[in-house]
Amino acid sequence: MLRPITRNLVLMLGLLAGSGGVRAATTHAYFTLHHLGKGIWAAIDKPGSHAGSNSGFIIGDKAVLVVDSFEDPAAAKALLKVIHSKTHLPVRYLVNTHYHLDHVAGNGVYRKAGAVILAQRNVRTWERTENLKFFGSKITPAQKKMVQSFVLPEVVYRHGIELYLGHRKVVVRVLPGHTGGDSIVVVPDANVVFTGDLFWNHTLPNLIDANTAAQIHTNTVFLHDYPSATFVPGHGEVGHAANVRAFRGYLENLRQTIKNAQGKGEQGKKLVQDVLRQIKARYGEWNYFGYFASKNITQTVAELAGKKHLPEASP
Ligand SMILES: [Zn+2]
Repeated sequence: MLRPITRNLVLMLGLLAGSGGVRAATTHAYFTLHHLGKGIWAAIDKPGSHAGSNSGFIIGDKAVLVVDSFEDPAAAKALLKVIHSKTHLPVRYLVNTHYHLDHVAGNGVYRKAGAVILAQRNVRTWERTENLKFFGSKITPAQKKMVQSFVLPEVVYRHGIELYLGHRKVVVRVLPGHTGGDSIVVVPDANVVFTGDLFWNHTLPNLIDANTAAQIHTNTVFLHDYPSATFVPGHGEVGHAANVRAFRGYLENLRQTIKNAQGKGEQGKKLVQDVLRQIKARYGEWNYFGYFASKNITQTVAELAGKKHLPEASP
């Protein structure tokens, strides 16, 4: 049902092949599965598959936790099948890293499987409302109904939560930058961090709701707190510190290039063209450059001017 509806969204929010070190990988219809450590798997979106974003799961000795649920419930069903093939333990938790539809559309699949869905409190507030904007003014009744039927998290937190899958501890931590309601999922005993869309590997980010200054700082926190971790980004391949540094560098470069152009008196179309030319020289090979580069510039210009509209946080 989602396929025709989400085709454009795959183009808008999805993923093309990225770079980064990976270990044993197996290819499935919607994703490539990477084994990151004992009982930890990343499901990396396969280009053109409608998965739309990355996901993954963590197996403890009593239960399983899943990170994000893709853009298409069929992809979530495919991952659930993989989980069942690896363990008979129950899928007890699903953490939504943020509200964007390419990370939550498959929530219903996990709810049906008995999982409790958790997220930062703003995710529950925004999931059925803010996601409407991705369809633009020509949203169809079917698309509207789909967004308004998304399954919401039933456990919400402000700053984070710690979960135990038996003996195995999973730390869910809230950090700012991508939407204003972003969580990362950390597995301390395996040194693995699922970053959601706070980190995009070799891929231009969607900055529609972003605070780039905060996102830069958050990536510095990643490097400081988890210097040798394996990072599973929201989009792009599994990465490490060098990839996080490169992504932070992109955001810094974007902001600085805009400020330099403004320093020369440039604005409007001329500024966009000039900045685009300069960032293309360094980042033109990154995934989604063609789709997101101009948007990244105009949205960051608005942010720097204090004129960017951001979703309103829960009171
Ligand atoms: Zn996102």
